Amino acid sequence: MQYQSTRNTSPVTTSSSEAIARGISPDGGLFVPQSFPKADLAGWQGLSYPALAEKVLAGYLTDYPAEFLKAATEATYGAAFGGKAGHLQPVRAGLYALELWHGPTCAFKDYALQLMPKLLVQAKKNLGRTETTRILVATSGDTGKAALAGYAGLAGVEIAVFYPNAGTSEIQRLQMVTQPGENVAVYAVNGNFDDAQTGVKRVFGDAAVAEELKGRGYCLSSANSINWGRLAPQIVYYFYAYYRLVESGVLALGEPVDFCVPTGNFGDILAGYYAKQMGLPVGKLLCASNKNNVLTDFIKTGTYDARREFYKTESPSMDILISSNLERLLFHLSGSAEAVAGWMKELATTGRYTVDATTLAKLQESFGCGCADDAAGSAEIRARFEQDHYLCDTHTAVAFRVAEDARRAGVPMVVLSTASPFKFPRAVLAALGGPVPESDFAAMAALCEKTGEKAPASLKILDTLPVRFTKVIAPEDIRAVALGADI
Ligand SMILES: *Cc1c(COP(=O)(O)O)cnc(C)c1O
Repeated sequence: MQYQSTRNTSPVTTSSSEAIARGISPDGGLFVPQSFPKADLAGWQGLSYPALAEKVLAGYLTDYPAEFLKAATEATYGAAFGGKAGHLQPVRAGLYALELWHGPTCAFKDYALQLMPKLLVQAKKNLGRTETTRILVATSGDTGKAALAGYAGLAGVEIAVFYPNAGTSEIQRLQMVTQPGENVAVYAVNGNFDDAQTGVKRVFGDAAVAEELKGRGYCLSSANSINWGRLAPQIVYYFYAYYRLVESGVLALGEPVDFCVPTGNFGDILAGYYAKQMGLPVGKLLCASNKNNVLTDFIKTGTYDARREFYKTESPSMDILISSNLERLLFHLSGSAEAVAGWMKELATTGRYTVDATTLAKLQESFGCGCADDAAGSAEIRARFEQDHYLCDTHTAVAFRVAEDARRAGVPMVVLSTASPFKFPRAVLAALGGPVPESDFAAMAALCEKTGEKAPASLKILDTLPVRFTKVIAPEDIRAVALGADI
């Protein structure tokens, strides 16, 4: 399988190792596979999660040794997910939660970020590279911790994480700033997630930075969902969930299922599109947004307009106005790097772009959309708990709300549940009604008490761990950090 940039009109192709080692294409575009490997839908039934992951990844990572993929998927998706990788929980008739938060940091990003470090180290081996990789990560909360947990202690890699100052939950912040490891650093950035992400992207596009680092034996890479190594592992759980529905007799093999995905940077839902292109019978992919509903408007109208107010919500991992991975979808839908390069340029200069009618029609064929603000999300948390005894977090609640309006008779709906409710205990507790303590930790205890659910141990101990990182920087300082300054 060869990869090309979404913006390069004279396609120079690269291997999967190169795409993963680089993260982003030098022309500012994202790496995409040149074709979609075909799934063996009948043959993959009954595979364990690691074995299924091996099959899916083998189609994309064709320059990785087969023994490596087998060992890496087994090491990643076994014990670290407590035997609950891809767990599908029935919620009510025809409605399911694909619980993706049983990994070490309690968010779905573990699926990619527990595997990606292994992919990166192997990519360097495949390419015969020996330089140190410096990873820069912009995070709205969950990516940062998942990346730190994945890369900490890894030889030949350093990682710096940038999160919006006061833009994450207390738990999310503590998860990051208490991260152990000699090769990790964490910075709060004055600004919102888009400021942090734009700052990191700018450094990646800065030839002078690359040149300077190269001279010192370093190269930059990204652990954000713009890296192909983040996306590919997420395809697996769409297949896994489908097979669980077939196994339990809800579906016959080949019948469609709809997925509803709480969306921010468009990586998680895009993996569902890849699964569909590989042959998984996906009906609709529903893109659920919070009050930052730029994607809802885009899917409805074909105009992407980021010139709008940015809202801080109770689902911070979805507080995004520029959804990076949408670029990949636009490339696949339009088939034109020239068109994509044009739209991205318009977005960068004017803050908006409008796709052509054919691309919009194709978009709407596969994708539906909807949004829910904090009040609607909160009501949904309460409704699911009171009616179905199902406790969900604030991000998942947005998707439940959107799914409710989009359900089709006879088609099961799977909501991707992206974080443990205990990552956002104050908001979840408030939704259930009753007093909300000031501290996240008291709220966690109260939430356990109220619901009878257990909080993950890795979250409960956070207030006992030493805080290692306290620096607050400006977005412009990201460049200096990339160059190795200890600001
Ligand atoms: C990152 C995240 C999302 C959004 O996923 P994208 O791939 O960025 O669309 C949703 N929910 C939670 C809890 C997240 O951490």
